[in-house]
Amino acid sequence: MIAYLPNLYPDELFYSWMARYYCHTTPVYANAIGDIFEKRTTRPDMEFINHLNKNARELLTRKIPMENFILFHTMFPYTRFVPQARKSAALQSMAVQEGDVHNLLPISKSKEPRYLRYCPVCALEDREKYGEAFWRRTALLRKMDVCAVHRCKLKNTNIEITGKQSARPYIAEVEIKNIEPEFVKDGLELQFAQYMTEVFQRPIEMDNTTGIGEFLNSKLEGTKYLSARGKARNITLLFNEFMDFYKDLPNQGLTKLSQMQKIFTGYRWDFYEVCQIAFFLNISVDALINPQMPEKSQTELFNERVEQLYVQGLGCHRIAKKLGCSPSTAKNANRVKPKAEHDYSVRKGIKRKDWEKMDEEMKQQVRDICEQIYYNQGGRPGHVTVNAVCRALRLPDKRFDYLPKCRKIIYEYEEKKEIYWAREVVWCYQGLIKKKEEEEVCWRNIRNVTNLRKDNFMASFPYLEKFTDMETAGKIKSLLPI
Ligand SMILES: [Zn+2]
Repeated sequence: MIAYLPNLYPDELFYSWMARYYCHTTPVYANAIGDIFEKRTTRPDMEFINHLNKNARELLTRKIPMENFILFHTMFPYTRFVPQARKSAALQSMAVQEGDVHNLLPISKSKEPRYLRYCPVCALEDREKYGEAFWRRTALLRKMDVCAVHRCKLKNTNIEITGKQSARPYIAEVEIKNIEPEFVKDGLELQFAQYMTEVFQRPIEMDNTTGIGEFLNSKLEGTKYLSARGKARNITLLFNEFMDFYKDLPNQGLTKLSQMQKIFTGYRWDFYEVCQIAFFLNISVDALINPQMPEKSQTELFNERVEQLYVQGLGCHRIAKKLGCSPSTAKNANRVKPKAEHDYSVRKGIKRKDWEKMDEEMKQQVRDICEQIYYNQGGRPGHVTVNAVCRALRLPDKRFDYLPKCRKIIYEYEEKKEIYWAREVVWCYQGLIKKKEEEEVCWRNIRNVTNLRKDNFMASFPYLEKFTDMETAGKIKSLLPI
């Protein structure tokens, strides 16, 4: 039976509390364990909470809900960057004590041995303030060697955190020695430790569904690590500068480009590594603990800007210059459909009979578009090609490879380049003589409208009569100075 419940101190590990209970109540540790856990043979978990017995659970949760024990007195915040659904499910299972914590949480086992640690100044202050020292969570943050508050080195005990250590709880007041603190200079290690500690201690926004990968991605916007349109990450540059930035940090987190890639694509969420990237990108703690996506992505803003410039009458080359992208990016900005995420659970691909159906259904649409391109409603005639039709219908490049009937329609409109030029020249000449006297029309006028080179113009001569009478054709030919 539980005789007395010690108070939990801020930032204290549940393990520490349990060890104090043992120390204050009974000389037999198995009795203390039996009072609190389901089994007397339980080996207490140093970072999380083993299954409690009914009595202990009832007594403990009278004051504090089970979830708060987990959130504020275990290493649970270490998983704060795990996707929301998984994190919530783990918290719920832990709160009702289902399953094994270590299977619920994706925390990698470290290869290096880890020990219970403490800050000598924290211990000193705790002894003064509370009359005893206790095990603090923040001293167990992986790969962090500095107390962010006291700017001194954390000290290892010789108690290894293995899950195989003795079942007898280690009491902080007994294990923590009064030793001289070893202070560290202000610098990257200290600043990063302060950042990480703050992130760790801040409450977790359990309802926030923003993935940490997409959030970090959004923070690349406007930096040199993302292309003007916001689609291509220059991850190699980012990785190299990142590695250079952290080269003096004693503990390495990310060491491979592929690991960084996985964080940005949402397949990796290690606490230390995410903090490293966020700290490198100057993301504030407030922004990181409750990540929000910008209202409009860089891609959307870019596309809008391109559209505006088009409306103002700029061509793709000038837009490209203005926005710092390639002309083809400017040209395709509002045409490229976003790539769908690959769904590995579905086998993609259109079946043969679907193609046949599509071929039949699209015939009229293709014929209409061919007409439209060919005549262009009296405007400058267009050259009908498979590619032109494809573009006009915004279809993927090779679509007509699968649609033979539609392709046949397009071929009906296709013509040799020279024939097309002839058609264009006649259209142009007829337009010119509507505006000015026949005698005033010259070759240069034709060239300015059609952009045809002189040899192309001449190549069109044999076909002029297909589109106009002999007399007009003759007048056109005579435009060329001898
Ligand atoms: Zn300290």
